[in-house]
Amino acid sequence: MKRIAALLLILPLFAACAPREDKRTFFAMDTVMEITVCGEAADEALSAAESELFRLDGMLARGDEGSEVYALNASGGGEVSPETAELISRALEIGGLTDWAFDVTVAPLTDLWGFYDQSYRVPTEEEIAAALPLVGGERVEVSGSRVELGGAKIDLGGIAKGWASQRAAELLRERGVASALLNLGGNVQAVGSHRGKPWRVAVQNPDGGEYVGVLDLTDACAVTSGDYQRFFEDNGKIYHHIIDPKTGRPAESGLRSVTVVCADAALADGLSTALFVMGMDKALELWRAEGGFEAVFVAADGGVYVTAGLEGRFESRGGYKTVK
Ligand code: AMP
Ligand code: MG
Repeated sequence: MKRIAALLLILPLFAACAPREDKRTFFAMDTVMEITVCGEAADEALSAAESELFRLDGMLARGDEGSEVYALNASGGGEVSPETAELISRALEIGGLTDWAFDVTVAPLTDLWGFYDQSYRVPTEEEIAAALPLVGGERVEVSGSRVELGGAKIDLGGIAKGWASQRAAELLRERGVASALLNLGGNVQAVGSHRGKPWRVAVQNPDGGEYVGVLDLTDACAVTSGDYQRFFEDNGKIYHHIIDPKTGRPAESGLRSVTVVCADAALADGLSTALFVMGMDKALELWRAEGGFEAVFVAADGGVYVTAGLEGRFESRGGYKTVK
């Protein structure tokens, strides 16, 4: 009798606390986006985040004639919104930090390989040699909201999604959302935790099939760059979308994917692209020197390497090595 009473008392309490969870999926920034929000005002918060992401897409899409980036590339320089100027500044900062392994002026190269408009093809040596001198983030100058491209053209594809997910997460927090997960085509951002536990996010296996592991995220993001995300095949060889700005070709650094974990999604996005280009040795040198982020590397031979700061936050499926 006593036990039933206790149950009856507790059950309504659980019902009252059962968190509402709403999910929305849409296509923006050339990718599928999925946002999950827990809490009562979820629907309204989701609408706000969705419109914000469409707004940022319209502002940053290189191929959209109405976008600021389109206008900037067409004119070679001029006034942009403070947001676009800030994003370009951040991109240049990450460029400097990574010895320009991350370089948003790769646009002529992504064009040449057809990654920009899906007209995939292997360019000739001469075409690459002609495009390389147009690449170099050092040419770009940002002063207030004025940007001068110095003859370069920019492609923000390696950082825009991370930056946008940060914006959308801020907007959710401003609306009182304490628990949400934003997945912008592999750029995952966790707001708070999920029902008192970290959000669980899988790191994909580049060959498909079983995940290589699962990350625990609380108020943090995980961004993956991998050779399997966008690629084409020509004469039996695979060409992927992450270009080494120094060679003008898809980076061949012995990695299949890099997942960067940190609190700042724009940094995580820029760094995931950069570390992929740099390869594991240089990436680890940067990690030791700068810190502020952690990473999961999947090497070409299938080996999984995890930086020491993820100890206890990475659950492996097929084994891994911790790097220090
Ligand atoms: P991500 O998927 O974040 O690694 O970014 C890849 C996208 O960034 C490509 O589709 C290009 O638009 C652009 N990109 C490719 N290589 C680079 C690079 N080395 N630095 C900056 N952006 C790049
Ligand atoms: Mg990136």
